[in-house]
Amino acid sequence: MSKKIASVRGMNDVLPEQTPLWQWLEQRARTVLAAYGYREIRMPIVERTELFARGIGEVTDIVEKEMYTFEDRSGDSLTLRPEGTAGCVRAAEEHGLLYNQTQRLWYTGPMFRHERPQAGRYRQFHQIGVETFGMEGPDIDAEVILLTARLWKDLGLADQVTLELNTLGDPDDRARYRDALVAFLREHRERLDEDSKNRLERNPLRVLDSKDPGTREVLQDAPRLADHLGDAARDHFEQLKALLEAAGVDYVINPNLVRGLDYYGRTVFEWTTDALGAQGTVCAGGRYDGLVQQLGGKPTPAVGFGMGLERLVLLLEKQGQELPGPVAIYITAMGEVQARALTLAEHLRDALPGVGIQCHCGGGGFKSQMKKADRSGAGYALILGEDEVAAGQVTVKPLRGQDEQQQLNQNEVADWLAARLHEGY
Ligand code: ATP
Ligand code: MG
Repeated sequence: MSKKIASVRGMNDVLPEQTPLWQWLEQRARTVLAAYGYREIRMPIVERTELFARGIGEVTDIVEKEMYTFEDRSGDSLTLRPEGTAGCVRAAEEHGLLYNQTQRLWYTGPMFRHERPQAGRYRQFHQIGVETFGMEGPDIDAEVILLTARLWKDLGLADQVTLELNTLGDPDDRARYRDALVAFLREHRERLDEDSKNRLERNPLRVLDSKDPGTREVLQDAPRLADHLGDAARDHFEQLKALLEAAGVDYVINPNLVRGLDYYGRTVFEWTTDALGAQGTVCAGGRYDGLVQQLGGKPTPAVGFGMGLERLVLLLEKQGQELPGPVAIYITAMGEVQARALTLAEHLRDALPGVGIQCHCGGGGFKSQMKKADRSGAGYALILGEDEVAAGQVTVKPLRGQDEQQQLNQNEVADWLAARLHEGY
């Protein structure tokens, strides 16, 4: 036998036992997005490397050390997308979606980052992302946050997540703050961790993000961005907080929330949970008014977020989310009745659209067929033997609940099942 080939580290298969939960999550998200009038956009998984270098920022973890970059056969440098925002802006700009109009867009799919794999952190992971364009007021910031809050409620996760909120101010505010922060951090340089020493010179705001206990202690006395805000950014933030309060969405202000990407300004937010250890952020986003211009377009206000589906699936698994299986009706076929079993199954599929009907294939005795019926998770087994076929009948055996087994005419069985399935059997 030749050697088996394993999957790539950090890139997971989603097995049939797990896909129902994924589908359920994705379906709920689609429903919520539709309820807010958001439209789906689909971008390629591969983009030109320079899009991410310019869009995300050269001095970020993603661009410095996490991207899957390769040269294709024409010698172009391409990258597997590490996030969706840059590609979405590229696509929207390329197809004129940002010209004199507002957009509310969403997308979903795999993202790729070469990180150290651990629970909740993978090299291929999946996001649902939202990007809105052309709206500069805090109302749209509030709307995208309300949308996520509604999704947590629909998923039954509302009591497990906390909204953390901050403002990064406008570019001038940040420049002034950056000077104050750098001056302060230089004074305490020897107490910072190595990463933070590096960032101090190259991307000082990211030091605020540090998880190092020593650095965190230094940061307690650091100057605050909140004290360097201009009037415009301050007003925007105050209005956003008032809108969230009016809508009954709780939040906590986290002055150290700066996000790992360069393109954010003003609003930043994260939804975090205590239930997943260090990988606690399930959704992260904010305002990025400068990005469209940075990528060659006209100045365009923009707000968006990305949520990590693996982390949400982990949360849903923890809460033991119950889901209906794919098979509601299992037809067993004993003896020379395959033709009738298959046509009965087709008849039922016509009559009961959307209901999962599995017809036994591959023969076997009554016991083993009934075992398979039970294992399929079906609510009903339809038993078809030579006697039943001769009499134009079928035996219906409820596999869950209290109903009695009974004989029905084959032409009545669809109506009988429709009535029960409607009640959710
Ligand atoms: P983290 O601080 O956890 O590294 P991030 O700031 O790099 O997250 P974003 O780029 O904002 O993450 O991506 C948005 C969301 O995508 C995250 O909040 C998280 O839920 C998810 N995510 C990011 N990286 C990964 C990964 N490697 N594996 C699984 N999910 C991820
Ligand atoms: Mg990261």
